[in-house]
Amino acid sequence: MVNYLKDFLLTIFFIFSPLVFYPYIYKYKNNLILYRFLILLLFSVIIVTIMSLPINIEGVVYDFRSIPVIVGSLYGGPIVSSILFSVIVVYRWVLGNPNTILYIVSLLPTIVIVFFCLRKFIQLNMYSRILLAVVLCTIMKMLTITIYLTILHNLDMVFNNLVETLQTYFVQALIVGICVYLVEFLNKYFYIQDEVYKSERIKLVSEMAASVAHEIRNPLTSVRGFIQLLAAENVDSTKKEYYQKICLEELERADHIISDYLSLAKSEPEIIEKINVKDEIEYLSHVLLTYATYNNIEIQTVISEDQDFLTMGDKFRLRQAFINIGKNAIEAMENGGMLEIKVSRKSQSVEIVISDTGIGMTPEQISRLGTPYYSTKEKGTGLGTMVSFSIIKKLGGKIDINSEVNKGTTYTFTFPAVVS
Ligand code: ADP
Ligand code: MG
Repeated sequence: MVNYLKDFLLTIFFIFSPLVFYPYIYKYKNNLILYRFLILLLFSVIIVTIMSLPINIEGVVYDFRSIPVIVGSLYGGPIVSSILFSVIVVYRWVLGNPNTILYIVSLLPTIVIVFFCLRKFIQLNMYSRILLAVVLCTIMKMLTITIYLTILHNLDMVFNNLVETLQTYFVQALIVGICVYLVEFLNKYFYIQDEVYKSERIKLVSEMAASVAHEIRNPLTSVRGFIQLLAAENVDSTKKEYYQKICLEELERADHIISDYLSLAKSEPEIIEKINVKDEIEYLSHVLLTYATYNNIEIQTVISEDQDFLTMGDKFRLRQAFINIGKNAIEAMENGGMLEIKVSRKSQSVEIVISDTGIGMTPEQISRLGTPYYSTKEKGTGLGTMVSFSIIKKLGGKIDINSEVNKGTTYTFTFPAVVS
């Protein structure tokens, strides 16, 4: 009995194992081909494992192959589904089971039903999805066995062990139900996390808007002044050229401010690529400069060495993280101060230090930093740091915080460096 139980638990373990990998697969949700390929790979491995380890407990065979086929089909779509059905047929043949053609014939009605349900599945809510998966698994098992055994004139086998057979259906329904519930739960969790990222980004963009508008007014005012000068009579040509040059430079500056700002507002699907940290820090200081000037704060950027520093990750997410941190630093210096941003290369990593001369934090406040809804600001959400820290940790970054009340705060981030 203990041995049977071991097999049984092992099979259940293999069925639930996709959930461990699911967060990694979910990351590629925007790349549909890769996402489906990974789903296919995962569920094929599970099918092969389950079919290689049949469980026979006191004469009752617990065959759970329908679970990975159905769950994989529902989440992977028609192509993945066709391949998963082929995998069970081919692997059954590899294992040396007889009547392959008969087995395919017995599977056909199920395949038609599953294909018919695939499109409906996407439109359903969580509980209906669980129900549909349970029903499809039951249909698959029942139809296949019934057709197969009827053609072989062996159907009595099922009726002889009716109670035990029903038991296997019940266990299968339970497992597939839990499996779909967990996948749905994870999907919902990731979806909410994405929404928090997005809403924080929108908050960031809207909070920076006033300073951007203000900062654009300056170049526009000077351009207006110079145009008036140009319009005056008896301006000699060298002066004209000089005024024009300044006008163009000022307009270019306004253009830069606007495009930096727009690039911050961009919300693109996650793309993992090599990030040039130096470029990003330069971008960061440009974007923050507007906000800092607006708040009477000076920015100093120190980039050691000319060499490029590279790390892997999503550029736009990294920007969001650093702008959050920089903005908090600026907001901590109500009476003006200095924001310093430093980048340097350590042996295997890239170090970014962001320090301010603001109000600082007590050790108790530091320990709460990064937890949701912790904010000391009237209009704060207390989600900015949480989002930033989770982005940085996702990129493999380490965070170190040093702060002293009324002196200032220093954040040190260390990212793994990659070679170009
Ligand atoms: P919000 O900015 O909306 O309040 P955050 O998650 O960005 O939310 O920040 C949470 C809290 O952490 C802030 O309200 C502030 O009290 C504190 N904090 C963050 N960065 C600093 C800093 N550089 N100096 C002082 N306090 C900070
Ligand atoms: Mg903030």
